[in-house]
Amino acid sequence: MKISNLNKLGQKDLIVFDLDGTLARTKSPMDKEMARILKQLLSVKKVAVIGGGKYEVFQMQLLNELKASKKLLENLFLFPTTATVFYKYQNGWKKVYYHGLTKQQVKHIEDAFNWVFKQIGYKQPEKTYGDIIENRGSQVSWSVYGQDLVTALGSKGVKMKEEWKKKNTPLKMKIAKLVQKRLPGLEVRAAGFTTVDVTKKGIDKGYGINQIQKHLKTPIKKMLFIGDAIVPGGNDYAVVRTGVDYIPIKGPEETKKIIKKIIGT
Ligand SMILES: [Mg+2]
Repeated sequence: MKISNLNKLGQKDLIVFDLDGTLARTKSPMDKEMARILKQLLSVKKVAVIGGGKYEVFQMQLLNELKASKKLLENLFLFPTTATVFYKYQNGWKKVYYHGLTKQQVKHIEDAFNWVFKQIGYKQPEKTYGDIIENRGSQVSWSVYGQDLVTALGSKGVKMKEEWKKKNTPLKMKIAKLVQKRLPGLEVRAAGFTTVDVTKKGIDKGYGINQIQKHLKTPIKKMLFIGDAIVPGGNDYAVVRTGVDYIPIKGPEETKKIIKKIIGT
């Protein structure tokens, strides 16, 4: 259920965040203030992060900036690539589970995207950066400008993604829908800004919430989810069906306000 009474947040044991667009600007490291208040939060609550990016992206956006002590990291749980992988900290980050795709599935996914692009006459941007279709092991992701846009162009890349999203979200949804039709045995979702993700069937952020409940033994009613895409068609929307309490936010600045409310500063 959507939460509007922020005074009840103290009753939650576990705060679950989306990463991209929620804790950090898209494909960018989180800022110093976020790192500071997140550490404060980790000293009083458990924290889980579910994102579409792979583990290396979690390192870049979250861990490298956080610089938290071992003790605090034991309260942090990572669910990269849409919870197809789960890491927890025990003297280093340890993989708890991994739902990989087979080579054949990866090939089918790549073929499906290329088939759909041909069908609808989609032309990719003239200049792209890094892989357009990236194999993340347990997830294959198509990204309009390529995976390395923001690494290459910085905030200009972020702007390009935001602009593309504003203009082309219906196109992204259409591509996701058509690719899903070609891949009935797999899960296809429009994600973040300029991306479509494919995983094994039944894996989305709702699955992630259920995995968190199972592995961390925290009941869903003790969790709070915070994300920037809790709208139909958004990649955070799947959490709603689990019954978890949630707060939709528009970006990291709004996330900070909620964290500060929880830690009481
Ligand atoms: Mg997001």
